[in-house]
Amino acid sequence: MSLGVNEIRRGLAKGKFSSVEITRDYLARIARYNPTLNCFISVTDEIALAQARAADAALAKGNAGTLTGVPLAHKDLFCTDGVRTSCASRILDNFIAPYDATVVANFKRDGAVMLGKTNMDEFAMGSSNENSYYGSVANPWNTGHVPGGSSGGSAAAVAAGLAPGATGTDTGGSIRQPAALCGVTGIKPTYGRVSRYGMIAYGSSLDQGGPFARSAEDCALLLQTMSGFDARDSTSSEQAVPDFGAALGRGIDGLRIGLPKEYFADGLDGRIAAVIETAIGELRRLGADIRDISLPNTRLSIPTYYVVAMAECSSNLARFDGVRFGYRCENPVDLEDLYKRSRGEGFGAEVKRRIMIGTYALSAGYYDAYYLKAQQLRRMIKDDFQQAFTDVDLILGPTTPEVAFRIGAKTDDPVSMYLQDIYTISLNLAGLPGMSLPVGFVDGLPVGMQLIGNYFDEAGLLNAAHSYQQVTDWHLQAPELEA
Ligand code: GLN
Repeated sequence: MSLGVNEIRRGLAKGKFSSVEITRDYLARIARYNPTLNCFISVTDEIALAQARAADAALAKGNAGTLTGVPLAHKDLFCTDGVRTSCASRILDNFIAPYDATVVANFKRDGAVMLGKTNMDEFAMGSSNENSYYGSVANPWNTGHVPGGSSGGSAAAVAAGLAPGATGTDTGGSIRQPAALCGVTGIKPTYGRVSRYGMIAYGSSLDQGGPFARSAEDCALLLQTMSGFDARDSTSSEQAVPDFGAALGRGIDGLRIGLPKEYFADGLDGRIAAVIETAIGELRRLGADIRDISLPNTRLSIPTYYVVAMAECSSNLARFDGVRFGYRCENPVDLEDLYKRSRGEGFGAEVKRRIMIGTYALSAGYYDAYYLKAQQLRRMIKDDFQQAFTDVDLILGPTTPEVAFRIGAKTDDPVSMYLQDIYTISLNLAGLPGMSLPVGFVDGLPVGMQLIGNYFDEAGLLNAAHSYQQVTDWHLQAPELEA
């Protein structure tokens, strides 16, 4: 089995292996398995080895940072200076970012090594990674199935041991849902915790970056690097960032955990419900006080999200016009032709669908009926959570209604695809932190459990997940790979 982030860090500190050695191991695994899995859009071998050599020099001098020499991967929507940043879109296929996203700069500051840029749904729109210009990603547990999306390349890379940790972004579930479907741990922090500077925007009021890794302990370390106030992001929070690692190991005796009845209702695969029940039993044995709660407006979350997210994306994606960034059509006859054909040829079908629906929802005459109404519902969804958190410390449920489905099974039915996010999307509307951790299998495919925390309580989430992972080993299971 491949190593975790903390294990690598300890191994490097003790001189068990060098960063160059471990980086070469990962690059070799990527070369071997990526042709089947398609987790990476770009592999940055040369950068990785140069960073690894620099890390080994720093380790030798004794001035290592928290992640010095640890190889990691970034979702291909974080801008990386001098490296292609495609957002899995044809329109950015030739885009070399001229600067680093704050998240990427933070990883550099702390000494991490970049293995490459991971595959995703185009502009982070999707739940299966099938909307990538670079093709689908295969789920390492069963390559005929999707890894989830939109951060499917990052989740699959960690599951397959092609990286010990990776970054992702979550607008409606894109960290938690692929983490669940690939059997890894992933956390979406509170809106504002992680800087969005240099993270290509989808729905700006919903987007948050976060890490994937095997364990909560590893996620704590990665989230530490990612978090913090950034003056270059106007919605960045000034809340102090606690020491996430130090918060682990507090135990969960007496912790009040709420089970929303709406998350265990129709639409949930009964076999997933049974796996979650077993995990709840484990938490109860650890001393958790399990309570029934209600989030009555849950059913409004999907329609609300798809109005807000599409409205915001139609505005955010207006900047891709064939003039300033990326793809430009051949031989335009005039400016309008240049815009139309560059966008028409550069964007994929799902992105176009969303730009059109979003533009419609924002247009004069419809704004009040759709966008304004969605903002009102968003407030009701947020109020449900605030009410629930007067009675409980954390909320628990399944991350997804089904395990990973077959590639192609839902591509002709966008609404069924959108329903995959039924349990994850409301957190983004409310701005709350949430995480997914592996708790078992159905049909040989991983099941994820979601934990939801109150604002800025990432430490509480990580501690609860860590407590569970101390007494179970689902997070340590690894798929057998087909070479
Ligand atoms: N599946 C959702 C969507 O398609 C969420 C994606 C995301 O979180 N980026 O919008």
